[in-house]
Amino acid sequence: MSLSGKTAIITGSNSGIGLGVARELAKAGADVVLNSFTDRDEDHALAAEIGEETGTNARYIKADMSKGDECRALIEKAGACDILVNNAGIQHVSPIDQFPVEKWDAIIAINMNSTFHTMAAALPMMRKAGWGRVVNIASAHGLTASPFKAAYVAAKHGVVGMTKTVALETAQEPITCNAICPGYVLTPLVEAQIPDTMKEYDMSREDVIKNVMLERQPSKEFATVEQLGGTTVFLCSDAAAQITGTTISVDGGWTAL
Ligand code: NAD
Repeated sequence: MSLSGKTAIITGSNSGIGLGVARELAKAGADVVLNSFTDRDEDHALAAEIGEETGTNARYIKADMSKGDECRALIEKAGACDILVNNAGIQHVSPIDQFPVEKWDAIIAINMNSTFHTMAAALPMMRKAGWGRVVNIASAHGLTASPFKAAYVAAKHGVVGMTKTVALETAQEPITCNAICPGYVLTPLVEAQIPDTMKEYDMSREDVIKNVMLERQPSKEFATVEQLGGTTVFLCSDAAAQITGTTISVDGGWTAL
């Protein structure tokens, strides 16, 4: 499968799953656009490294996915968008009656609203190019819930709903829109949840990993960023041309329970 000649924009991709997805898309030949809200030398160096490793044109564009105008500007600045991967996301763990309002607003903006803005800006480009793939990185929490994650679960369910809607709006065009629903992947986002979860459940780090996180993941293994990248490349392949409006779980069996 060659994605040579395609431009892929991956939001929130200087770390974790987004970076893994960017690497796999570049390995498949796509010119990737990395993104986050920072503008550090190391962000641009990351893109340069991917470009050198894969012989593709990799760039880094700063844009804050909590702001609608910056989401749209990211797509415009990239100049092309054949593949859009909405991945930027944050988490906060707290009972709903203590959930800080600013955390609620930030999670809804970054994890859900950004997907609306980037898709709205990218779809006209895909239509003009006559081909497009949207891959929204949702979560097992787009299909099920866990306590203390009200904003995250609401945002991810919203992303899954938006995915279905856009798939129907593009159903008769050479464009697909799907969501990938990962279970637990050991990235900085998950690392950051461990201390709060230890506090909520009064547990050690090892017990949180085994008895809270992987408790619901029957495989008892974290999914990897390479596996999520590979699933994204598959959704961009010709074999996946009739796969649209659906979710693909990469969760070690979590949602089969
Ligand atoms: P991560 O913290 O490693 O990566 C998050 C990325 O989003 C980073 O690149 C960060 O810079 C970026 N980001 C954060 N705020 C941003 C903003 N305002 N503007 C632009 N970029 C911003 O976390 P991750 O685990 O790789 O998560 C990536 C996605 O995968 C998220 O949407 C997350 O909800 C989802 N997900 C993760 C897991 C998991 O277990 N790690 C499971 C299911 C879903």
